[in-house]
Amino acid sequence: MKFQNENIAIDGPAGSGKSTIAKEIAFKIGANYLDTGAMYRSVALYCLRNGIDVTNENMVKAHLDEINIAIEFEEGKQQVILNGENVNSFIRTPELGQASSKVSAIPDVRVKLVKVQQEFASRQKVVMDGRDIATFVLPDAFLKIFLTASAECRAMRRFLELQSKGSEDTYEQVLAEMKERDYRDTHREYAPLTLVEDAVLIDTTEMTPKEVSERILSLYENKLRESCN
Ligand code: C5P
Repeated sequence: MKFQNENIAIDGPAGSGKSTIAKEIAFKIGANYLDTGAMYRSVALYCLRNGIDVTNENMVKAHLDEINIAIEFEEGKQQVILNGENVNSFIRTPELGQASSKVSAIPDVRVKLVKVQQEFASRQKVVMDGRDIATFVLPDAFLKIFLTASAECRAMRRFLELQSKGSEDTYEQVLAEMKERDYRDTHREYAPLTLVEDAVLIDTTEMTPKEVSERILSLYENKLRESCN
């Protein structure tokens, strides 16, 4: 069987805990963590800054060659470089959450970013999170995980995170936006968020982050043992 450097693919909807868990797992197994959502957010940022309508496929396509996305690491923390500028501090807003979910439905955007992600994985062992990692980016990943949780639980986690950053959005607003984004991400025609047959589904609603990472690490270790036999 062909494995890609014992990589781990983690897919799931917004607020399912992917990034917290993926970071922790990457640290434990000595891999690099790639947050692919940050890349879609950066494309959306470029569009918003330049008056490009993220729902207009032809308009976005006409500007795609102007967008260069690179990944760097500073003290182990991923930085997204958009045309030479570090945009990490601009991409975590709810507005960009919505805009990235719209722009990510455009196949040419996905093809462009998937190329960068696969190239990244070809150079090192990775834990990658997103919506299409098991289906498109790393279809031969060593371990595929699908994280989920109830929409209410995911919205509460996101609401508390936004509140700690001074946001005044209400829980109801966060929940409504999350449901809208979930719908878009699972219903787009090209590369929608899907649970593949060989992925392990973990519902994190009643679990602590520690329990989730322990479960994934134990799945990973079991697979390693099996692959040695
Ligand atoms: O993971 P995050 O919430 O930062 O992702 C922002 C948006 O980018 C998602 O709502 C989704 O539409 C899109 N995305 C995607 N494929 C990925 C990662 C993110 O379509 N691999």
